[in-house]
Amino acid sequence: MVTPAFDVIVVGGGPAGLMASIAAQTSGASTLLIEKGNKLGRKLGISGGGRCNVTNAKPLPELIQNIPGNGRFLHSALHRFSNEDVWAFFEGLGIRLKEEDRGRVFPVTDKAATVVQALVNKVYDVGVEIWENCPVTGLVTDNGRIAGVSTHRHALVAAKAVVIATGGCSVPKTGSTGDAYPWARAVGHTIVPPYPTEVPLTSDEWFIRKRALQGLSVRNTTVTLLDDRKKKLTVEHGDLLFTHFGLSGPVALRCSHYVSTTHRKRPGIRLLAQVDGHPERSLQELVDELFHRKSAQPKRHLSNVLSDLLPERLAHVVLETLGIARDIPMTDIQNVKLEEVAKQTKRFPVAITGTLPLAQATVTGGGVSVKEIDPRTMASKVCKGLFFCGEVMDVHAHTGGYNITVAFSTGHLAGASAAEYAAVSSVEPVEQP
Ligand SMILES: Cc1cc2nc3c(=O)[nH]c(=O)nc-3n(C[C@H](O)[C@H](O)[C@H](O)COP(=O)(O)OP(=O)(O)OC[C@H]3O[C@@H](n4cnc5c(N)ncnc54)[C@H](O)[C@@H]3O)c2cc1C
Repeated sequence: MVTPAFDVIVVGGGPAGLMASIAAQTSGASTLLIEKGNKLGRKLGISGGGRCNVTNAKPLPELIQNIPGNGRFLHSALHRFSNEDVWAFFEGLGIRLKEEDRGRVFPVTDKAATVVQALVNKVYDVGVEIWENCPVTGLVTDNGRIAGVSTHRHALVAAKAVVIATGGCSVPKTGSTGDAYPWARAVGHTIVPPYPTEVPLTSDEWFIRKRALQGLSVRNTTVTLLDDRKKKLTVEHGDLLFTHFGLSGPVALRCSHYVSTTHRKRPGIRLLAQVDGHPERSLQELVDELFHRKSAQPKRHLSNVLSDLLPERLAHVVLETLGIARDIPMTDIQNVKLEEVAKQTKRFPVAITGTLPLAQATVTGGGVSVKEIDPRTMASKVCKGLFFCGEVMDVHAHTGGYNITVAFSTGHLAGASAAEYAAVSSVEPVEQP
């Protein structure tokens, strides 16, 4: 049997690799997509709670702001193939999309399978050759330039250009297991050690250990994350969920990048999340309300008054953390203590010990260093003919459709650039006997 040679090989059939193979083939390159699993777009199929938050409709500067992991590196890619292009691409495939809150875009069907199927159909329609159940085992180079890849079955599948789109290493059952890091390292790339992002936060506070607040959600809150020197690391807005291990929900996930990156520099340090337990009112309004209640309802217990303003369980925990008895009548509590209660409510402190592990993270931080990738083409700066796209690179975004946008945008650029490179490359790939 002769193994055919290709202009471009794309490794990995996630959103980045699917888009890269479409872009490469439609740019005139004979393209092979190799996927190790038996299904293309597996992670895409579970994304967005099974609905696939396929992009975000916010303007470009806001997209970049929502990409805390090297967002500025993506300027060129997002200009070349933007969130509007993602929208137009799917509408062109007959998939209607809709915008929800905070710019999040979903298919009208509310089914991720709609997006996956449309993409996969397009890959077939344009004529990409697809090999499934075929794990790539490494890159093959010749004189510092790409010659192809090896697989578990072939010593060499030859190509003029290779696009690596193997993803990160979170939720490994989807196929993203960090396979490409050693290959990239072997040809001279630096790998920023992977770490969990967009992941729940852990805490050892007594009210977490005792599950006193488990299941409680605080809508539209603000969380301020401070380090051990009280330096503000970030201020994030959104919904928060108390769990049996710590904090979850969109606002906790948004903080996780800062927890992980701080822990990488200073392992084991305790951070502090200040949760605004009553986001509808300012601190002064809350103090005024408590003073007003004191004169209007002098005999009521403080915990009952506070439970009018906060979820009851949170009200009890606030008082317990301040060492104030629940059954103290309003008239017996000093104003200065009421001010403390208001402050504790607005800046409810939760010590943060870390995050859940990488395997449980939505996104992988770290990966192939972007310093060694040309942002205008996604080409490796250290190995000719090699290109990267998607989560395998040291880029990551907040949840909200930004990560899939990054995958599509960099996939499109990498695929088109690889085809362009293959068109002018003087080296002919060799068919293997
Ligand atoms: C539960 C969950 C929900 C999410 N929801 C959203 C969302 O709604 N919106 C959003 O923007 N982002 C979301 N994300 C993040 C988003 O899914 C990822 O950022 C995105 O899938 C990354 O795309 P990728 O193509 O780079 O990698 P992946 O999607 O991880 O695809 C990589 C592919 O490469 C293949 N591969 C790996 N190694 C090899 C090898 N050796 N040989 C051949 N193939 C290989 C894998 O099998 C896999 O198919 C979610 C993530 C998770 C885990």
